[in-house]
Amino acid sequence: MPESPLAPVSLSGRRAVVTGSTSGIGLGIARALAAAGADVMLNGFGDKAAIETTRAGLAADYGVQALYSDADMRDGDAIKAMISQAESAFGGVDILVNNAGIQHVSAIEAFPVDKWDAIIAINLSSSFHAIRAALPGMKARGWGRIVNIASAHGLAASPFKSAYVAAKHGVVGLTKSVALEVAELDITCNALCPGYVRTPLVEGQIEDQAKAHGLPRDEVIRNVILAAQPNKRFIEVDEVAAMTLFLCSAMGRSITGAALSIDGGWVAR
Ligand code: NAD
Repeated sequence: MPESPLAPVSLSGRRAVVTGSTSGIGLGIARALAAAGADVMLNGFGDKAAIETTRAGLAADYGVQALYSDADMRDGDAIKAMISQAESAFGGVDILVNNAGIQHVSAIEAFPVDKWDAIIAINLSSSFHAIRAALPGMKARGWGRIVNIASAHGLAASPFKSAYVAAKHGVVGLTKSVALEVAELDITCNALCPGYVRTPLVEGQIEDQAKAHGLPRDEVIRNVILAAQPNKRFIEVDEVAAMTLFLCSAMGRSITGAALSIDGGWVAR
């Protein structure tokens, strides 16, 4: 019987790089890609032994090659070297997930300049550097999938998040431009725009807001953190990973230049 194009996604033979994948959404995406059969390069900061356990676990659990790069997403040369390292080790990079990101919350007149620079570098410019390095190989092979993890804050603003909102809006613009440049090839470039996903990045915000407002955690979650998110629950990492897998599948080939919301209705308001 011929295999249905709607069979579960198999990415066997594909090679992926996921930035910021030692934690949270990036780790969930890396795991999903590996589970679908792709070789995966992890990247990000954290405890070296824990990262090695994760890397070895992915390779053992899913029978794929799993590598790790400690490239700092503030450093364009390091990002270029990370893509070269993946190309040499795997033979190419077919899937690039630009996910690394940080947050800082402050009124603009008090916003630390070094935080602005770091957020623009990690949340926006790193995607430029990685795409710039990976695209020639994708073009040469005639296939590629680029998934940029933007945010609901790529489509709508909140106060006190000027750098994050600017960077994420920038990611959505970068996504559209790249998509148009390669639209006639089987290479897509999309942005995912999640609402609040419970990860270490958001845990930090819950703690900060609880202290700032003198409120219990569950009240902060419902009335402060999820104030703009109509479904009033956190999005699961696996929901973002599942969308990434679909975009990386053959059936995702006509979705390009899109900013896809996974936000419980946030930007429907
Ligand atoms: P997280 O803090 O759990 O993970 C961030 C990852 O980025 C980690 O692996 C960290 O080591 C890495 N990282 C940070 N600075 C780095 C640097 N200079 N170089 C290399 N790696 C670096 O956060 P998360 O919530 O999983 O966020 C992942 C992405 O999803 C971010 O781009 C974030 O803006 C976006 N996002 C998160 C949410 C949410 O609610 N959690 C919502 C929308 C979008």
